[in-house]
Amino acid sequence: MGFSTDAVHAGQEPDPSTGAVTVPIYQTSTYVQEELGKHKGYEYARTQNPTRFALEKNLAVLEKGQRGFAFASGMAATNAVTYLLKSGDHVVASNNMYGGTYRLFEKILASYGLTFDYVNTGDLEAVATAFRPETKMLFVETPTNPSMIISDLRALAELARSKGARLVVDNTFMTPYFQRPLEMGAHLVVHSTTKYLNGHSDMVGGIVISNDEEASERLQFVQNAAGAVPGPFDCWLCLRGVKTLALRMDRHEKNATAIAEWLRGQPKLKHVYYPGLPDHPGHDLHRRQASGFGGMIAFDTGSIENGAKVLKRTRLFALAESLGGVESLISHPATMTHASVPRAEREAVGLTDGLVRISVGIEDLDDLLLDIRSALSVL
Ligand SMILES: *Cc1c(COP(=O)(O)O)cnc(C)c1O
Repeated sequence: MGFSTDAVHAGQEPDPSTGAVTVPIYQTSTYVQEELGKHKGYEYARTQNPTRFALEKNLAVLEKGQRGFAFASGMAATNAVTYLLKSGDHVVASNNMYGGTYRLFEKILASYGLTFDYVNTGDLEAVATAFRPETKMLFVETPTNPSMIISDLRALAELARSKGARLVVDNTFMTPYFQRPLEMGAHLVVHSTTKYLNGHSDMVGGIVISNDEEASERLQFVQNAAGAVPGPFDCWLCLRGVKTLALRMDRHEKNATAIAEWLRGQPKLKHVYYPGLPDHPGHDLHRRQASGFGGMIAFDTGSIENGAKVLKRTRLFALAESLGGVESLISHPATMTHASVPRAEREAVGLTDGLVRISVGIEDLDDLLLDIRSALSVL
């Protein structure tokens, strides 16, 4: 089936007891058993919930994976993936990824005997050099957040496999509509479903999609044993959002492309980061591994004062963390999403104090352009 057909139908057969077209919200904590050891496959809702199962199946199909495991947030999904590691293991990760992932690795997991190295995963040689005999995981975002560095997924998957490590890709920015890392050899994909997959800024959630049987078995165990499961209502909201993913992503991208092109023509901006711009480093590589460029743009205003002025002046672009919803948002990575990353590490990847990030929504392009133009007129 095509992507949009799967988005609407996969894992969402009409409800067997009523024929309801929409998967019901099974808002229950437990299930009646007929007699000792005899039940319908559902015992307790941390372990099994039909609404959650529908979401897991749906997203596994869209990402071309074997299994999906939903979690209460994107961070809970990433955290669950690290339970595949044990004390003494080493992880190589992108040096420009989501700040919360860096915080989880450094401020929590590093105290449990795991070690991490952060490299520019767009540089294959740097990744290969960072590998050690005890490296068990390569954790990558492409494009990275917010400098939009592109990493070669096929080459990284091959490298990880040759070293006996797993490649995990945080695919939140691209979604399976534009990029499917498992098809290029990655073992696991994680998402913050809070973002584009839900798409309406009305829940927090995460998912891990696995193409690795051993990892799937462990993840199923971890999901139940550690218990960071999402509630059925949030699963339902995400399922509903995913049905329009293709439509939304096309519109996000159309708007973002036009805005990025306009921004690039502004002499007061020091830099515009958008993988869809033909002169973006990694543009060609990205085109070989993804079918679109997404709706995220970052631009450097030159100073924190300039950044603050722009943030204050937008009307439609609302000042807020998060991304991927139908409404346009604007944020300041250095003090918001990436505040937990030390300044030196931030600046090494272009994440300067003047950097402003926008998540381009699906509003009318003319209104968005007018808003950005008027905000930038203060520079
Ligand atoms: C938001 C985000 C996360 C964390 O997800 P939550 O749902 O907020 O826990 C992880 N990775 C990326 C790329 C994100 O944008």
